[in-house]
Amino acid sequence: MASFNDEQLRRYSRHIILPEVGGEGQEKLLSSKILVVGMGGLGSPAGLYLAAAGVGTLGLVDFDEVELSNLQRQIIHTTQDLGKQKVQSAKEALRAINPDITLNEYNEKLTSKNIMEIISDYDLILDGSDNFPTRFVLNDACVLAEKTNVYGAVFRFEGQMTVFAPHKKGPCLRCFIPELPPPGSVPRCQEAGILGVLPGVIGSLQATEAIKIILGIGKPLIGRFVVFDALEMEWSEFKLAKNPKCQACGEDAKLFDLGDYQDLCAL
Ligand SMILES: [Zn+2]
Repeated sequence: MASFNDEQLRRYSRHIILPEVGGEGQEKLLSSKILVVGMGGLGSPAGLYLAAAGVGTLGLVDFDEVELSNLQRQIIHTTQDLGKQKVQSAKEALRAINPDITLNEYNEKLTSKNIMEIISDYDLILDGSDNFPTRFVLNDACVLAEKTNVYGAVFRFEGQMTVFAPHKKGPCLRCFIPELPPPGSVPRCQEAGILGVLPGVIGSLQATEAIKIILGIGKPLIGRFVVFDALEMEWSEFKLAKNPKCQACGEDAKLFDLGDYQDLCAL
C-alpha cells in the first residue's frame, strides 16, 4: 500500500476503494501534473474536480479578471472575487477544497513564446480556453511536445469534447480544422450566449477523461468527437480520423510555425 497519511486515506477513500483506482491509482493522481488552460466556464468544474481528486499539481492559466457576467457559469469564482485575477480567485477556491496539492498560477496569455516552456512541466493539458488563437497555439505546442490535450468547447446549448493525442495515433485539432478561422467568421462569446450549466457538463467530462488517462483505465476519447445537445438532451459521437496530410501532425508535417495569431474571440 502506498504511503498515505491518515488524512489522505480518508480524503481519497472513495477512490482507493475502487478496484480500478486503488492506492496505486491514487498515488498516480497525486504525482501527476495537469495544466488547466482557462479559468472560465470549462476550467471551473474541471479545476474543482481535479483538485478534489487529488491531482498533485495543477497549473492554472488565465489572464482575465473576474467580471459579474462570468458568475452565471464560472462557478470557481464568487461575488467576493469580482475584480480579482482569475488565477488568484481560482487558486483560493482550489486551496480551500484541497490543501494537499500544489497550485501554479500563470497570469498570462499563451503565445508561441511562452507555451513550450509552460506545458513542458505537465503530463496532460486540459483545454478550457474560449478562443481559437489559444486553441491553435495550444494544439500545435501539444503536438510538438507530445502532450495529450483534452479538448472541450461550448456554444449556446451545444457542447463538444474530444481528446487529441497524435503521439498515441489519434488526430489533432488541425486534422479537422486545418487553419484558424478568419476573424468575424465565428460569433464572439458575448454575442452568442451560453446556457450557464453547459460548461459544467463539458468541463466535468474533460476532468473525467483527464483522470482516466492519468490512471490508464477505460477507453479514452481519442479519435472520437462527442457532441452534446442540451435542448434535445441528445449525445452524438463522430469518428475523428487523423489526417495524414495534417500540417501539424501528418506524415510529412513540418514543424508548424507557432506564429502569434491575431487575437479574436470565438466560442
Ligand atoms: Zn493533425
